[in-house]
Amino acid sequence: MTTTLHPEQRQQLAAVLAYCQEMGGVDFYRSKQSTVASILPLPPAFKTPPTAALEPVLSEPFSTMPRNPNLQSLPPVIDFSSSAIPPQDRAAALRAIQEEIGDCTRCPLAFEGRHKIVFGDGDPNAELLFVGEGPGADEDMQGVPFVGRGGQLLNNMITAMGLRRDQVYIANIVKCRPPKNRVPEPVEATTCTQFLFQQIGVVRPKLIVALGATAATYLLGAKVSLSVLRGNMHDCMGTKLIVTYHPAYLLRDPRQKAEAWKDLQLAMNYLHLSPPQRVGS
Ligand code: URA
Repeated sequence: MTTTLHPEQRQQLAAVLAYCQEMGGVDFYRSKQSTVASILPLPPAFKTPPTAALEPVLSEPFSTMPRNPNLQSLPPVIDFSSSAIPPQDRAAALRAIQEEIGDCTRCPLAFEGRHKIVFGDGDPNAELLFVGEGPGADEDMQGVPFVGRGGQLLNNMITAMGLRRDQVYIANIVKCRPPKNRVPEPVEATTCTQFLFQQIGVVRPKLIVALGATAATYLLGAKVSLSVLRGNMHDCMGTKLIVTYHPAYLLRDPRQKAEAWKDLQLAMNYLHLSPPQRVGS
C-alpha cells in the first residue's frame, strides 16, 4: 500500500533517514510498542563518577588570572537556585540576560573580529538543552548557534530524537567566535559561562547535552576525557547532564555517529522520548 506523506512528515523522515544513513545504517525503527530502553538497555553505571577522579579545569583560580584593564567587570551572578522563573516569564528573563550582555567587551574575544554575539536559540521552556563550544563563521554572521554544517547535523540528531529544533534550547560555552575556530581560552570560557549558567537557570531543562570536550569541561568544572564521561549521567547546577561528541567531530569522523546515537538514546530514555514513528507502520 502506498502512503502519501505530508510535506512536513516527508522532511522529518528525510532528516531521520539522512542521519541514520550517515550513522552507517543503524536501524532504530522497531515495532510501534518498542521503547528506547528496549533498544538500548541502560548501562549499569548510570551514575556520576566519583569527584575524586576529576581534575580541576584551571590550574589557578580565575580571580588570580591577569586582568586586562580594558575589559569590563564581570556581572553579578544571579542566584537562580531558590525559585524557578515561571514558564511564562522565561522568554523575558532570557531577554534581560541578553540585554545585560549588551555589546560585550568582558573578554578578549570582543576584540578578535567577532561580528555578532551568539546568545542562544530555542524554547525558553525546553526540557532539553544542548551546549556547544562556540560560534563558527556562519553563526558569527547570523547571530544564531549551530546554523552551519555542524548545525545541519545537530538538526538531524534532534529530529532523530523525535523532537523539533524549536522544542530544544541551544547555546555555547562562548558567545563570540574564537578566531580561526580555536578552542576558547579558559579566561574567555569562564567569563562567558556566567551568562550561560544564568540561561540554564532560567530555562531549567530536565537534561543538558554537552556537545564535545569543551562544553563538558566548563559545564562540569573538570577536564575529563569524553571516553570517561560518555555513557553516564552527570550533574550541572542540579540538572542531569550527558556528554556526546561535537557535530563537527562527527562530520570529520562519521564512523562515530553510531556512538553518538547511543548517547542520544540515553538522553531519550531519560526524557521518555521515542524516535519518530515510521509512517504506515
Ligand atoms: N560549533 C559550536 O560549537 N557552536 C556553534 O554554534 C556552531 C558550531
